[in-house]
This record gives sequence, C-alpha cells and structure tokens, in this order.
Amino acid sequence: MSDMVVVRREGLYCVPGDFYIDPWRPVERAIITHGHGDHARYGHGHYLAAAPGVGILKSRLGDITVQGLEYGEQIVHNGVRISLHPAGHVLGSAQIRMECGGEIWVASGDYKVEADATCTPFEPVRCHTFITESTFGLPIYRWEPQQQVFDDMNAWWRKNAAEGRASLMLCYSFGKAQRILSGLDPSIGPILAHGSVEPLNRVYREAGVPLPMTQLVTEVDKADIRRSIVIAPPSAAGSPWVRRFGDFSDAFASGWMLLRGARRRRGVDRGFVLSDHADWPGLMQAIKATGAQQVIVTHGSIPTMVRWLCQNGLDAKGFETEYGDDEAQDAAAAGAAAEGVTAEPDPIAARWAVTEAADAARAAGKADAGGEGGNA
Ligand SMILES: [Zn+2]
Ligand SMILES: [Zn+2]
Repeated sequence: MSDMVVVRREGLYCVPGDFYIDPWRPVERAIITHGHGDHARYGHGHYLAAAPGVGILKSRLGDITVQGLEYGEQIVHNGVRISLHPAGHVLGSAQIRMECGGEIWVASGDYKVEADATCTPFEPVRCHTFITESTFGLPIYRWEPQQQVFDDMNAWWRKNAAEGRASLMLCYSFGKAQRILSGLDPSIGPILAHGSVEPLNRVYREAGVPLPMTQLVTEVDKADIRRSIVIAPPSAAGSPWVRRFGDFSDAFASGWMLLRGARRRRGVDRGFVLSDHADWPGLMQAIKATGAQQVIVTHGSIPTMVRWLCQNGLDAKGFETEYGDDEAQDAAAAGAAAEGVTAEPDPIAARWAVTEAADAARAAGKADAGGEGGNA
C-alpha cells in the first residue's frame, strides 16, 4: 500500500485528499495543526483548523480564509474522512486523523501528554501510521510535574518581590506565556505582560481559558513594578524596554533549560525547565497508545527515535520537514548561540545552538511578522 501522506516541496501532503498539513510553502488547501509560526504560515488559499485555534490563527495571520472544525467532528474531502483531535500543546492544537480505504493515519503536529489549564488535553488516537514530532526525542529529556515548576517560579518571584526587585520571565509569547500565567500566584504582586504577549492573552480569555489579570507596564506605578513579574518574549532581553525595570532578576522558561550549556548561553539568573512538548517518556507513551505499526518521525531527534522504534519492533522512518523549534526561538541569543556552536563539546547542546541560530536567522529575515522576534 502506498503512503497516504508524503513529503513534497510545499510540505506534508495527503495524496488521496489532495491537501497539505502545515505546509511551509503557499498551497491551495492547508490543514493547520496549531498556530506556531513554523506550522501556520501565510499565503495559503484555504485553512482548516480546530475551532478553538481559529482565533489564534486570525490574530497571527490576519485576514485568512479559515474553517474551524470542532474536536472529533468529521468531514469527508476527496474520499478522506478527516477529524481533528486535541494535541495538548497550545490553545487549538490538533492531531489530524485521516481515514481512507480502511487505512488510518494520524499527523500529530506538536504535542504534550501532560494536561494543563490552557488547552484541551492530549487525546490518543488509534491508527495504523502515526506521524510524530521528536523535539525532545532523546532519553535524557524527562520533565518534572508542571506544578513543581510553577511552585519554583512562584518562590523565585516571591523572593525577588521581598527584596524589591522585579522578576522578568522570558518565554515564548504564544502558549508558554499563557501556561506560565495560569500557574502564577497573583497574591505575590502585579503581573505585567509585554505588548506582544497581551494580544494572545486576550485570545485565550475569549476562548474561555481562565488567566490571572495582566497589565501593561505603563499601567503600573513604579513602586509596584518592584514587586511584579513581567512576562516577555526572549527578544525583549537586552532591549531598551527592559531598562525601565531597573534592578531585576531574569529567567528563561523552556525545555532546553535542562541543558547546562543552554542555560549558560542564555546568561539569565534562572532557567525553568518547562516545555509544551512531550518528553521522552511522553513520546513513547503517546506512540504506544496509538497502536500504530508504522511511525514516521519529524522535526527533532529523527535518527535516535527511528533507531529506538525499529529496535522495539515498529516500522519507523523519518520525514524531513521545515518545521523549527518553538522552544528555542530567540533572535536576541543568536550571537551567543553562534559562539557556543564550536566551543560546546556536548552534541545535544550544539544541535540546540545550531537550531536556534537557524531560527534566529529565519526570524530576522521576517522581522515584519510582528513584535515578538519571529516565531520559528
Ligand atoms: Zn508548536
Ligand atoms: Zn513543531
């Protein structure tokens, strides 16, 4: 039987359905797994996405023709039965289930198996072939329960506030920022959001996700800023915008903060290990739950995952895609990352740095995409 989904120049392509999944070049019909910039791009004729993610797509891509599909709702297109299922990654993230001639394929997009308060939890979908991401597809990646990370974040903020110092939390504006907000203790002090984070908070609130009150820095007294936590994209680090906080402590939240080299290169006071992607046990658990005999691995640690899955009796291979790494996105760290590539003997950290440099270059190339330093 020939593959239902293949890689074309434009992106992942469903052959019988004649549509693309998260294409990286403009196409007529695109199904979008989620709104991160490397998966949801400009210029397609028609977009299909999970209904809870339509607001995100519109806020990021502007005036597009987009159809929303509720999770679990089915449509048939060119003989392919299509439905979208929660991926637990960010608001509106979906796995795409395609059924044709008794064969079932599922494309995961990005996913996370631990449930959180800001999006519908990941749902395992039975299939014959599962296309999985592998951003953290190495056995060393194991996350603490998120409540532990939130407790650590609140303790850090509380200590800074007690010492009269603002806390600057650097993280990706879409998804990570809202997840962190959902875990903060508002009794500690004011919560400020950078101008590129607040519009996304609004979309989350409109979708019914409860987030604590956030304010812009211009709305808060100087004295109160010293007790505040500020949620800002990594590109804000070192910018004139952060100078108004005077003496502050900074932190970065990402799955990559597990790596000492990554923490060092970031040059922040604290690294919080918090990822919107599955860790190694999560990837394995998700793959197993699909019951799939064939697994196709995309962006991340393709060779390691493919080797591991084959050793465990599955038929596994990789797809080369142009998806990036939403956990590493950061134009401001490009210089540091480039310098770290040769100096860093750790191959994993080096790979991280290369990815980040590439993302940063891409982000710089489309600096008109918005105020958050790109979104690769
Ligand atoms: Zn993503
Ligand atoms: Zn991705």
